[in-house]
Amino acid sequence: MAKTQKFKTEVNQLMELMIHSLYSNRDIFLRELIANAADAIDKAHFASLTDEKLVQDWKIRIDIDSENRTVTVTDNGIGMNEAEVSENIGTIARSGTRAFMQMLSEQKEKAAGAPELIGQFGVGFYSAFMVAEKVELRTKKAGSDDPAVLWISKGEGSYTLDTCDKSEAGTEIKLFLKEDAEVYLDRWKLENIIHRYSDYIAYPVILPAKKVNEDKSEEWEDKVVNSRKAIWLRKPSEVTEDEYKSFYSHLSNFGGTEYLKAIHVSAEGASEFKALLFLPKTAPFNLLMPDIQKKGLQLYVKRVFITDECKELIPDYLRFVCGVVDSSDLPLNVSREILQENPHLATIAKTVVNKVLGELKRLLENDREGYEKFFAEFGRILKEGLHTDFANGEKLKDLVMYRSLNSADGKLITLDEYVKAMPESQKDIYYITGDKVESVASNPVLEYFRKQGYDVLFMTDPIDEWVMQSMFQYQKKSFKSVTKGDLELDGEKEKIEKAQEKYSALVEYLKNELGSEVSEVRFSARLTDSPCCLIVDGGALSPHMERLFRAMHQEIPESKRILELNTDHALIDALNAMVGCEERKEELSKLVHILWNQALLAEGSPLKDPAAFARSVTELLLKSVK
Ligand code: ADP
Repeated sequence: MAKTQKFKTEVNQLMELMIHSLYSNRDIFLRELIANAADAIDKAHFASLTDEKLVQDWKIRIDIDSENRTVTVTDNGIGMNEAEVSENIGTIARSGTRAFMQMLSEQKEKAAGAPELIGQFGVGFYSAFMVAEKVELRTKKAGSDDPAVLWISKGEGSYTLDTCDKSEAGTEIKLFLKEDAEVYLDRWKLENIIHRYSDYIAYPVILPAKKVNEDKSEEWEDKVVNSRKAIWLRKPSEVTEDEYKSFYSHLSNFGGTEYLKAIHVSAEGASEFKALLFLPKTAPFNLLMPDIQKKGLQLYVKRVFITDECKELIPDYLRFVCGVVDSSDLPLNVSREILQENPHLATIAKTVVNKVLGELKRLLENDREGYEKFFAEFGRILKEGLHTDFANGEKLKDLVMYRSLNSADGKLITLDEYVKAMPESQKDIYYITGDKVESVASNPVLEYFRKQGYDVLFMTDPIDEWVMQSMFQYQKKSFKSVTKGDLELDGEKEKIEKAQEKYSALVEYLKNELGSEVSEVRFSARLTDSPCCLIVDGGALSPHMERLFRAMHQEIPESKRILELNTDHALIDALNAMVGCEERKEELSKLVHILWNQALLAEGSPLKDPAAFARSVTELLLKSVK
């Protein structure tokens, strides 16, 4: 008995879109169905390694019936039972459904290109409804006694489920084409689509072709239309740009067909394998959403698909790389579970990482502009490696770039360029962390470095602060934060000691007045124009790190600031003169608090009582206009 069931709301909305809104590039429906069929065969193929009953002559068939206006895609893959059909197709809203629709609504104007992306959201099956007014799916689960299932839907809110006769395992999807989709009854059209998008599919895709016999009679015969040549086993010179593009779009969940670089790896010796890896061009909108983004590389063993997301093959910080690894050393019956323990994977991963980092280095050296674009998209992910992959630390340090105090027009520089430009008197590599270039650039602590001509790296990625916890040296030079107290700045030691003596009354006064907020008040060589600045103890969290923790709702103790005063500033002199003067006591206290708040603002920290600060400043303004 047929049961009618309703689609989940989201699936329903998606179908509406498919049926009524997406008209550009409807060709991709076939790519999606063939990809699903190939995935289903991959699964059955894998299962057959341990279950001989399942061994099959694996293939995908496309049949055209012009009279009834149908196109049918058949595979002899893993198939589905009833529970799986309703779980996979229709009832349960898959996580990608909502994300796909959100992307459509965010990019209305670009929606023309949207069907291209559908496969990456795990909703490819529904693209059938771009061309079909009705879909019948018959499927039988391989290696099980579950009855075959018939699923029918016109895509309008509901579908029916029933049992049916089907003896061979696998899935058959019959599309009743819409009137305006009759082009897909044209055999050449379908053959072209398959060449374009599905050529590399490892199983034969059969599309019957008309054969004219010698006696002029015609008959249909099966014809395999894809070359099936695994692209990663071919020589780079034998692969066309179009083939790379179509393979890349199949692999990546980064959208589109544009990649930055295709990398072939052919390793012999300890671990024999071939790989084809892609560096993407642009980051996907969901780069930072781990539940949607697939991670890892595809793993094949001697051309047999093993798994889709083999995380052991590539570290997290290179998760933007997609590709295929085909190993000759792993046992074919390797189970996905024991993969993790296989030492070959670690060896392969090492080679893969080396190769990718090497390619990036070459790109940096040979195509600076291209590399900078890449770095703008993926740099923050790459930097994670500095904290997690110490073995490749030096190579990664060569690849990171920063803006800096001396670099003109916000240009990025590498650490190597930084070190090369260091004046002889400069010993350490200086950096400042913060959330924006504009705010770090105006921090008064930079005044000394500006005067000395020392460059300071601007680290304004949220991840930089975290990374700096484990970046100690580069080319034997230590990294030093300019907002920390442990710098050995040149000269002026005597001058500072003298000032400390001369202004001891002011120093004492400030310590008392600012109370628990400051750990120390002292004079500094860091300043030229500003009266004062704030820094923290060498071991303490930087103010930026503090803000990051707070933004993540983490309770952390406030690190106390060291208030550093400028020996040569007129204001310091004037304030010093006010200390001890009874009638100016109140005024002095106000001025000191303004100064303190100003210093907090300059380092980018929030004020405890912004309203009180604003009132005091207004008072000052009034005085000056009077
Ligand atoms: P995706 O393939 O990205 O997961 P789809 O919407 O294309 O998303 O398919 C949804 C699910 O339906 C698949 O994950 C798979 O479990 C199942 N499915 C689709 N087509 C087939 C098929 N030909 N054989 C077996 N299962 C299939």
